[in-house]
Amino acid sequence: MTPLVLHNSLTRTTEPFAPIEPGHARVYSCGPTVYNYAHVGNLRAYVFTDTLSRVLTWKGLRLTHVLNITDVGHLTSDADAGDDKMEAAAKASGRDIWAIAAHYTQAFEDNLAALNIRRPTHMPKATDHVAEMIEWGVRMEAGHCYRLDDGLYFDVSTVPHYGALAGAAHDAAEGRIEAVAGKRHPQDFAIWRTSPPGEQRQMEWDSPWGRGAPGWHLECSVMSAKYLGLPFDIHTGGIDHREIHHPNEIAQNQAHCDCGDPGAKVWMHNNFLVDRTGKMSKSSGGFLTLQRLVDRGFHPLAYRMMCLQAHYRSELEFGWDGLAAAQVRLKRLVQAVGALRDRGDGRGRDDAGTYRDQLDAALSDDLATPRALTVLDAMLADKALSPQARVAALADFDDLLGLGLSTLTRAALRVRPADATIDEDEIAARLAERREARVAKDYPRSDAIRDELAAAGVEVMDGDPLGWDWRV
Ligand code: AMP
Ligand code: ZN
Repeated sequence: MTPLVLHNSLTRTTEPFAPIEPGHARVYSCGPTVYNYAHVGNLRAYVFTDTLSRVLTWKGLRLTHVLNITDVGHLTSDADAGDDKMEAAAKASGRDIWAIAAHYTQAFEDNLAALNIRRPTHMPKATDHVAEMIEWGVRMEAGHCYRLDDGLYFDVSTVPHYGALAGAAHDAAEGRIEAVAGKRHPQDFAIWRTSPPGEQRQMEWDSPWGRGAPGWHLECSVMSAKYLGLPFDIHTGGIDHREIHHPNEIAQNQAHCDCGDPGAKVWMHNNFLVDRTGKMSKSSGGFLTLQRLVDRGFHPLAYRMMCLQAHYRSELEFGWDGLAAAQVRLKRLVQAVGALRDRGDGRGRDDAGTYRDQLDAALSDDLATPRALTVLDAMLADKALSPQARVAALADFDDLLGLGLSTLTRAALRVRPADATIDEDEIAARLAERREARVAKDYPRSDAIRDELAAAGVEVMDGDPLGWDWRV
């Protein structure tokens, strides 16, 4: 096997990975804030962590993976300004905050399943760990915190090298930190937020600093320490977290252990999915959820494919054409696998080991999924390899890339858009009629059927090389 190397944001280098505890990888991923559906950008973060999990497991390591559910404390700004996202959502909808959290947590889990993202070992909720967060606050208070009217704040000058993770990016972030009156340093952050007098939150707890709620950054330190132990191996999140959230977690970890240890050895960050049309953002109505892609006729795994086609550290631009291209690529693969199966016993080598090695080499190189996909293409097209060997070799690709090619069918990939007004049998019947018209050289009739289908949202693709002769 090729030794695994991963890019560590802390050292800004790509380093060989060796778990602290031999044979056991411990990974923490910052999870969703469940005040709304995840947008497809958020989901890119979990496709990335899933690839990481799959690679670690495939290499024979025991994996403990924690993905937290943020159901309290995350403000509309990462830097202690604005409202609590959960409380704001409850206020806006007039619904019970716990019901909101439960609804969007379930929706998130459904998204993970639809994208073939394996379930993490633990998915702890912040609200189940408030007592432990208070314990952390008490422990850190004397040496590292100070009180203001609205809560307990962490003094970032009390830990070594605050913000080292963010580096250059951090200076840029600083300018964006909105002032909270009385903070000693702009980067100081809330450990506990006391509810304003006369105002009752739906979620609040008693603490030594008054009734209120924990600051958002605290939950990740507390839950990673609880479920993984400090220090653990890998901490992941989106690139935005490199600037504020993760430096704050590191500061808390250092304060808690009274040492310089950042808590995790390797910090990994996925780059953003960007949408130049601005439709992805949750503040824009009808933002881009996975369900919206499905409503437009895309299979969730087409989105997974789109993610895998880019390296996790590269920006990926969202576009409907790009998504359509990813879906076509997936269809081609499914078709190629089907053709190999139909051929049954065929001639050729039976050992696909070289492709397994190439796949391993690609993913061991800081999870180079685009390269792994080209290895898959080459393997399926290798005529020197018997059809059975090629089909059998899919098991490793499915284990690592999670595209489910061993079981995915053409029919499953044909997703009906929500606004389609015609069903599949009808389309098939109309197309048969159109073929007859063409055989009879009745082109006006053939064109009329084509126009009728177009009016129902079905595009007839004459000579479609995939043999998928229509598309809704
Ligand atoms: P949130 O639910 O806002 O706390 O975000 C959940 C995860 O998605 C975090 O790891 C974010 O860093 C990540 N994230 C947010 N926006 C994007 C994006 N456009 N592309 C990729 N990851 C993102
Ligand atoms: Zn976090």
